[in-house]
Order: sequence, then C-alpha cells, then structure tokens
Amino acid sequence: MIDRMEALTGWGRISPTWARVAEPGDTDQVGALLKGAPDRGVIARGLGRSYNNAAQNDGGLVIKTTLLNRIAGIDAAAGVVTCEAGVSLEQLMIAALPYGWFVPVSPGTRQVTIGGAIAADVHGKNHHRAGSFARHVRWFDLMLPSGEQVHVSPDGDPKLFWATAGGMGLTGIILRAAIQLTRVETARVKVDTVRVTDLDEAMACLTEADGRYGYTVAWLDCLARGKHLGRAVITNGDFAAPADLPAAQQRDALAFRPAALLRAPRACPPGLMNRHTIALFNEAWYRKAPRRRDGELQTIGAFFHPLDGIRNWNTVYGPRGFRQYQFVVPFGAEQTLRRNLELISRAGAPSFVTVLKRFGPADDGYLSFPVPGWTLALGFPARTPGLAAGVT
Ligand SMILES: Cc1cc2nc3c(=O)[nH]c(=O)nc-3n(C[C@H](O)[C@H](O)[C@H](O)COP(=O)(O)OP(=O)(O)OC[C@H]3O[C@@H](n4cnc5c(N)ncnc54)[C@H](O)[C@@H]3O)c2cc1C
Repeated sequence: MIDRMEALTGWGRISPTWARVAEPGDTDQVGALLKGAPDRGVIARGLGRSYNNAAQNDGGLVIKTTLLNRIAGIDAAAGVVTCEAGVSLEQLMIAALPYGWFVPVSPGTRQVTIGGAIAADVHGKNHHRAGSFARHVRWFDLMLPSGEQVHVSPDGDPKLFWATAGGMGLTGIILRAAIQLTRVETARVKVDTVRVTDLDEAMACLTEADGRYGYTVAWLDCLARGKHLGRAVITNGDFAAPADLPAAQQRDALAFRPAALLRAPRACPPGLMNRHTIALFNEAWYRKAPRRRDGELQTIGAFFHPLDGIRNWNTVYGPRGFRQYQFVVPFGAEQTLRRNLELISRAGAPSFVTVLKRFGPADDGYLSFPVPGWTLALGFPARTPGLAAGVT
C-alpha cells in the first residue's frame, strides 16, 4: 500500500494542505486504515477533480481510492455495471460503449471516480432529463467510520443512501457500486449549435431546447456588457443513430478511443489569465462559432469533455490557481441571474469557462446541489481583486 505525506489541493490549486495519503489496494486495507484513524479523522479522495478543498484533510488521513479500480462485471442486457469506487468514468466508457451503454450522467470531465461522482452527486448536460448521478445508482457498499461494511440501496436504507449521495464523503468510504447505464447506438453526438446575442435570447433558446434535446448547455461571454450582456454559444445534442454516421464509420459506430492528452507548459506565467487575455479568448470563441449549424457529428470527448483535451489545463492560471463558483436560482428569479452577470461584467472579473444550464427536478440527496432553476458556473483566477481576499 502506498502511504506518504503529501501537499494536496483541489483542481483549482488553491489552499494547499498537508496530509498523510494512503492508497489501499483492497477493502481490508481500507478497514485497517479506518480503525487506526488519527484524531484529525479521515476523508476519501478520488481523482482530485473537485475544484475546491473537499478531498483534503489538513494534518489528517486521506484515503485515495484510485487503486480500487476493478470493474466486476457489466450486465450487457440490462446495462448495469458493478465496479469498485476508484473506477473512473473514462474507464467505464471504454468498458461499456462496445456493448452500447454510456454513463447515465457525465460532468464536464470524465476523469472522476465513481466514488467522487456519487459523493458529489454530479450533474451533467442532461440534468433536465436524467437528474443527477445518484438517481442511477442501484446500490453501493459503504465502509462506515467504525470499519463496518454496509450494503446501501435507495429502497433498503433511503436515509443513508441520500446522506451519502451528495454527502461529500462525510458518511464513510464508498467501496463499490452498481450503476444503471444509458443505452446508446453510437459513440457520436449529433449537435446543433446556435450563437445568440444576449441573455434573454440565451435563456429562451435553452428553455426551448429542454423539450427537444437530451443534452443542452450554453457557454457565456461573462465580460460582454450592455446590450450584449449574456451573449452565448449554445450547443444541444443527442446521441446519433447509426444511419447518421458516414458509411465508413457505421461499421465501428461504438468506437471510443480517447486521444492522447496534450500538456500545458509546466510553468505558466502568473498573469497569463487576466481580463484582457480572457476578453480576447471570449471574443475569438464567440466569433468562431457559427450563427447556426445543425447536425454536426461530434465525438464524446469534444461534446462532453472539451477541457480534458489538455491534461493539466488548471495550471494555466499560474501558481495561485483559480476559484470555481457555481450557483442555482429558481425559475422565476431570472433577475438574480441577470444582476449577477451585470456585477461580474462591470467588475471585469474574468471567467475562462462560464456555463449556463437549466436544472430539472432535484433528487432526494440531503446535500445535493441541483434544484430546478438556472445554474451558472464560473472560474476566476484566484488573484481576481475582491475574491476571498486574504486566502491563498
Ligand atoms: C473540468 C471539470 C469539469 C467539471 N464539471 C462538472 C459538472 O459538469 N458537474 C458536476 O457536478 N461536477 C463537475 N465537476 C466536479 C467533479 O465532477 C466532482 O468534484 C467530482 O466529485 C470529482 O470526482 P473525483 O473522483 O475527482 O473526487 P475528489 O475530487 O477526489 O473528491 C470529491 C468528493 O468526493 C468524496 N469522495 C471521493 N471518493 C469517495 C469515496 N470512494 N467514498 C466517499 N466519498 C468519496 C471526497 O471526500 C470529496 O468530498 C467538474 C470538475 C472538473 C475538473
């Protein structure tokens, strides 16, 4: 078992803290670690893609699950996969797509573990149809802080199930789970893109898209002001049918071969991401998008996980890192969304990736994030004036 002291951060690379990090290779080792837990306690960590400090434990023990990464089996008829908690969504896609199954919910990166996806009850571009991840979890095995193992399902123990789903690792260590996958006929997404000039148009387009598409999302230019406030590029899609693919691809319609990842330069200058460079990037991104394009075939990577193309894109913010901020306002409170965007654009606070989406009905997770409404996600360089002053 790997066991060492390590400085940890989340994906935003802020607030580093030191912890003893252990990587158990089996559940007996997890049990032994929990029984010998230090006073500062224990927290689980998957692939560390949580933006902030959820999977850190200053002076305590962090149990990394990445060696618990065995897929026990896929029921190819029913589309149910049983696997250990350290299996990544990418691993699942590679294993399940040949049988015509895809993960039921995918966040904006596939480099997250099943344990992390359940603990954060992650949501994706299909929340309006599919809800968040835990809705598709049939059961999981949880090791409680006492070292006792319990088998938890939404019907058998709804309280513990929904306290753990979205519970950010606070009820114990998820060891393995069974997930209901989603049927797909190809590994390509048929995408309609539309470029809109302001927030009203963006919201109208997304509202209309909810009824027509399985997956919808808007990328917003958070620095656009005045009559262009909220200008956006909206991408809507559904998995393609075999007949949608060119003849040459139809023979291998379920092929999923994640490309080798590029690397950002090791040391990016601290000021690279600022309001001027991000304004230029936003302008280029907006102009590059077609006013309207229908039926474009995109790979799973291009549509669901564009940021995964660069392995360490989080380093482009320089050594101080960045802060991710996401909120949701209920339908009917659109003015709050507008007011927030006005404040951000007026302050010139540069967000590299700004994403607007509509959430559908919430699930039963006590701490789950999504509720019906508009959700805006932003990522600001940590040294943006006015952001969490004094925290490094
Ligand atoms: C580029 C990018 C895009 C993203 N897009 C989205 C998105 O669209 N929607 C969304 O919801 N999220 C999104 N996220 C956030 C990410 O999906 C979640 O933070 C997810 O939990 C990360 O999984 P992980 O395996 O890296 O877990 P970690 O970051 O290592 O841990 C996250 C939390 O899960 C707990 N945990 C991990 N494993 C276990 C376990 N086995 N048992 C118990 N608790 C455990 C940890 O204690 C911690 O509280 C995105 C992140 C990135 C970097």
